[in-house]
Amino acid sequence: MSSSYDCVIIGAGMSGLAAGIRLAMFDKKVIIVEKHSISGGLNSYYSRGKRKFDVGLHAMTNFVTAQERGKPFNKLIKQLRIPYEDFKLHPQKYSLIKFPEKELRFNNEIQLFIEEINTNFPEETDGFLKLLDFIKTFDEVNLSNQTQMAKPVVKSFINNESLLEMIFTPLLIYGSAWENDMDISQFVIMFKSIYLEGFSRPEGGVRTIINILLKRFEECGGEIKFNCEVTRVNSKNNRIESVEVNSNEIINCQTILSSIGLPETFEIIDNLENSNHKPRVGNLSFCESILMTDLKPKVLGIDATIIFYNNRPKYLYQKPQTFFDSESAVVCMPNNFDHDEFNEGILRITNIANFDLWNKELNLSKQAYKDKKEEVYKQSRLILEKCGLNSSHEVIFKDIFTPTTIKRYTGHQNGVVYGSIDKSRNGTTPINGLYICGTDQGFLGIVGSMLSGISMANLHVLSPQNSGGLS
Ligand SMILES: Cc1cc2nc3c(=O)[nH]c(=O)nc-3n(C[C@H](O)[C@H](O)[C@H](O)COP(=O)(O)OP(=O)(O)OC[C@H]3O[C@@H](n4cnc5c(N)ncnc54)[C@H](O)[C@@H]3O)c2cc1C
Repeated sequence: MSSSYDCVIIGAGMSGLAAGIRLAMFDKKVIIVEKHSISGGLNSYYSRGKRKFDVGLHAMTNFVTAQERGKPFNKLIKQLRIPYEDFKLHPQKYSLIKFPEKELRFNNEIQLFIEEINTNFPEETDGFLKLLDFIKTFDEVNLSNQTQMAKPVVKSFINNESLLEMIFTPLLIYGSAWENDMDISQFVIMFKSIYLEGFSRPEGGVRTIINILLKRFEECGGEIKFNCEVTRVNSKNNRIESVEVNSNEIINCQTILSSIGLPETFEIIDNLENSNHKPRVGNLSFCESILMTDLKPKVLGIDATIIFYNNRPKYLYQKPQTFFDSESAVVCMPNNFDHDEFNEGILRITNIANFDLWNKELNLSKQAYKDKKEEVYKQSRLILEKCGLNSSHEVIFKDIFTPTTIKRYTGHQNGVVYGSIDKSRNGTTPINGLYICGTDQGFLGIVGSMLSGISMANLHVLSPQNSGGLS
């Protein structure tokens, strides 16, 4: 390995890979260092026997056709010079927000959601249409936007508490680091990416995306090193000089883009005497049961692609007091996209979970931890029944992951998926030359984190004087 680079990117998740491509494309000497043996980060994959599983991917947000120019996904692939067709995207059929009293369906055309709101909450249709106008004109990617909570803003358009909760449910669980609310810019990003653009799945799952990114990075001449953990960021006179990897090797560099999270990055900076601000670690983590069944979900009574299940009048998006919250979940059926590549049925049930309790249990006894995972599985079977799955099937394989699994494989403290509640929207840190990209820059999800990697590479490495936009 050469010992001096224009840029070291810490982490080979979606944001790090996208940033790496952008820099390598413009002949920057760039290396991505990843502590694991594979890339993908929060959105990775694994195999059990002959079966292949995605860790993160339920669905990709921001679905657009190749012709819809100017939309985030098409801007992103234009910046990376990757053909649209390579992703082999298949749109969702429809998704369902399922509350005790009401259900709302939505798909990749906003019209269905408007009709469902009109049928279930006729007195709110006008307010919802006004909310849509507000969202369409909001500049959510402006890096100087200040943090402001979204619920009070949305309440000025929507009076019915139940509808308000239903609108927020998919947006919170697919993209909020904050409990029970989210920043208004993040709300608009998520609203556009889920309700106005929608869900799709790449054929082959997350491996397809990762392989495309890795191939493009290598084609552009970038270097990547696996099993290579950054153990320290060295600075002098408040400017970065190098990173130390695996506690013994030094890589000199001009800039660093860190995708590992804001608190996690602060932890490895050698001396931070100029900073009295320590970013807070988030609270929201998840456990997930993955079931393979002999029959497919559609045959068993579920034809929705994703169900946002909530069994309370209000949706509690917060760290539960118990190991996991069994009264709410996201239930994803990878078979129920426009194209079904699987021979078996797959059902994924994701619950909000408490990292501290899982971590304590794991440290106390492996058996107790295993037993708890069985409880998650049992509850997920009950949730599936409530979502309409009939019992005439056999579960041929199951796997359960918990917040401690997320921490082990991604390094995110508390097993958080959406990072810290303190974001660095312009990517800067107290150390010159050290920048944040990905989740804690504020853009998350698969598409969001890639956009973040590109815009931070543009802004801080390619042309530090420009705005970092994605024209
Ligand atoms: C269960 C689950 C379901 C999800 N579902 C979806 C979904 O359906 N759709 C969607 O769009 N998004 C989904 N997401 C979110 C999405 O995966 C993330 O928002 C996105 O992948 C974040 O990418 P990132 O590059 O910001 O960070 P990360 O993926 O966290 O990448 C950081 C990388 O840095 C590496 N690293 C950490 N510390 C070090 C170190 N010291 N040195 C070197 N390397 C290090 C990590 O191993 C990791 O590879 C899901 C996530 C999870 C966990």
